[in-house]
Parts: sequence; structure tokens; C-alpha cells
Amino acid sequence: MSWREKIGDGDLIKLTNLMDTKAFKRSLQHSENYNRKGFGHQAEVATQLQSEYQSDLIKEIRDRNYILQRGDVTIRLAQAFGFCWGVERAVAIAYQTRQHFPTERIWITNEIIHNPSVNQRMQEMEVQFIPVEANQKDFSVVATGDVVILPAFGASVQEMQILHNQGCKIVDTTCPWVSKVWNTVEKHKKVDYTSIIHGKYKHEETVATSSFAGKYLIVLNLQEAEYVAKYILSGGNRDEFLAKFAKACSAGFDPDQDLERVGIANQTTMLKGETEQIGKLFEHTMLQKYGPTELNQHFQSFNTICDATQERQDAMLELVEQNLDLMVVIGGFNSSNTTQLQQIAFDRGIPSYHIDSVERIKSGHSIEHRQLNGQLVITENWLPTGEIIVGITSGASTPDKVVEDIIKKIFDLKTTGLMV
Ligand code: SF4
Repeated sequence: MSWREKIGDGDLIKLTNLMDTKAFKRSLQHSENYNRKGFGHQAEVATQLQSEYQSDLIKEIRDRNYILQRGDVTIRLAQAFGFCWGVERAVAIAYQTRQHFPTERIWITNEIIHNPSVNQRMQEMEVQFIPVEANQKDFSVVATGDVVILPAFGASVQEMQILHNQGCKIVDTTCPWVSKVWNTVEKHKKVDYTSIIHGKYKHEETVATSSFAGKYLIVLNLQEAEYVAKYILSGGNRDEFLAKFAKACSAGFDPDQDLERVGIANQTTMLKGETEQIGKLFEHTMLQKYGPTELNQHFQSFNTICDATQERQDAMLELVEQNLDLMVVIGGFNSSNTTQLQQIAFDRGIPSYHIDSVERIKSGHSIEHRQLNGQLVITENWLPTGEIIVGITSGASTPDKVVEDIIKKIFDLKTTGLMV
């Protein structure tokens, strides 16, 4: 019997709204069908991961203080880049899962991480994505006893509930930093605070985080946060507010009632500085509205910025201070933390190209890259002639092998003169 037959969609939503998400997660974690630690095959998969994703060239550049010169090209690598701890852990657990269940059908609720080459490897290992129809995941393909992996950025509580009801074996690779944010919104919910989540409402991590929240409002950036802060202080057009955040707030959200007590949470991969600014903005707003003695009854903030995101952004801020001719920012096109790195280069006015693989470099004259607005464009004459300094960084989901391929391609194009 499929989960759709066991429980209708409407019932499921109602059940989710009523349920104690914290208690559900606790009971799930005690279930024999749940695993979040891997299966003890660390040594075997470490060798496999090393050969598939690590790079001797990148090791050499690291050993040379993150600088390598060949011919006319000097590469300056950010001092923190690429695979973060949470991503390495998720990929390793996924590889262990395949080893541990060699014959079972294995599914994954989303990309394991936002990197095309790693996701391609998952498919080669016959780890299948849950199909999506009309923007809805179709869990009816999953049978009792199948294994389902939850990716590094987590899954919504509704999805976990469906899979649990279906009798699947759940392998949860959610990064502990993401779980920390979920705990934060649970704390807000417990004291009836609205969670203001700095994030992208469509991003899988934010979808998952909001599923654990009670009342919530998702703000994309400081500008949207300022709009909300102004509404808190001076009121405004309620219909306009609700239209603006129609897809970014909890069901039945009322800006006139639900902004009296707020707590801050974030998607772990947003710009650290902006999350901090948004936190300060709401702290000042509540201070102004309620005064210092009442502040603690109206505002809560916990530090949920992930160290890895912070380190990569700090390293990027250092790198853009160098005298760079251009930047190449490497990472999946749906990777939020990579987009934030590209934003830093863009803000400094450095010609910067966000690409996800070496295939995007068509020649020394032509590169296909993603702009901050999400559009893919081709830029001609991107690689200057003569001596150049190229800054390189990569997002937390990018294997070193991908970075190596791109650096080698730039060396080839410049040193062999193959600029066509
Ligand atoms: S970027 Fe941070 S939160 Fe995301 S997977 Fe890596 S360590 Fe975890």
C-alpha cells in the first residue's frame, strides 16, 4: 500500500500542522529504520573518495602558500574553499550506504549536494532521485524496505514523515549545522516567537527549516528586512505585505499580530555579514518599539552561521583585496554559498565568472557563466592576453578535482597559446 493510500495529502498537511515536530524527530531518531552515523565503512570509502574527488595539483598550490605561477598566469587560490566538513560527511555516508545495501533500491530526496559531478556519480551508483512532477515530489515510487537518503541540507519534516510511514530505511546526512538552525526555530516556536529566516524561500534548506518552525517569515536580504522592520514600527499596507511575502511566510500569517515577538534564524549559506545586519536591525527595531527592559520579551537571536560558510566568505574577502585581473568562482549553479562568493567579487567590480565545470570554458575567447540574476550568458574575450593574476575559489559542494580541471585549462589556454 502506498503512502497516498495510507494517508491523504490533506490529512497529511493537517497532521503536520498539528504534530509536535520535535517529538516526531526524536521518535524517528530512535527508530530502527533510521541512521545518521553511517555504517562503519569509513576506511573503504575514504580511498574511493580520495581517488574520485581529491587533486594533487590543488595540494601543490596549498603547499605553495596558495599561489602558483606558470608562464603568464599566476593563480591565487582562496585560503578556504571547496568541500566543507558537512558535505564531505554527507557524500561519505552516501557512499557507505551503497556499500552497506548493495542490492536494495536506494533513493535520494534531492541532490546530495549542489554539485553536478557528485550527483552524476550518485546516479552511476544507482542512487535514484525521487521523481518530481509539476513541482511535487512523487513519493509513490518508494516501496517499503527501500533505502532513502536525506541530503546534506536536510529534508522537510513532511517528507520525513511520509518516508517513515512508508516503512523506508532513512539515512539522514543532514549537516549538524543545519540541524542547529532547526533547533533554533523549535526554540522560537516553544515560546510563541515568529522565526524570521534569512534565506531563499525556495531553497531546500530553507524549506526544511521552515517546516520545523511555527510562525515564520522568510526575508531574502537586508532590503526586505528593512521593509518588515518599518512595518513593525509604523504599520503599513497589510495587503501589500501579504502579497510581497505570499510564498515566504507560514499559513495564516498576520503581520499585525505575528511580529510582536521575533527570533532570527538563517539559511546556513547566506552572506554572514548580511545575516548579522538583519539580526541587529530587528534587535534595534524591537528596542525602539518596546524599550530596553522589554527587549528580551520581544527578540531572540542565536548564532547559527556555519563556520565553513563564514571561512569561505572571509577568505574570499581577503582574496579580492589582491591585485586580481579576474576571478573564477566554481560551484553548482543552484549552490547558494557559491552565489554568495560571486556576489563578493561582483561588489568589488572584479570581472568574475561563476562556472560549474571546465566544459563552460569554450576557449580563451569564450566562457559560459552564470550571472547573479541566474541567467547563463557567454562572455567573449574573458581571458586577457599577457601576464595575468587569476583568483580562484569554489563553493562548499565543489570537489578539488573540478577546480584542478579548470586551473589546468587556464594554464593550457595561456601557455600553449590555444586561445581559439
Ligand atoms: S556549508 Fe556549513 S551547513 Fe552547509 S553542509 Fe557545509 S558545514 Fe554544513
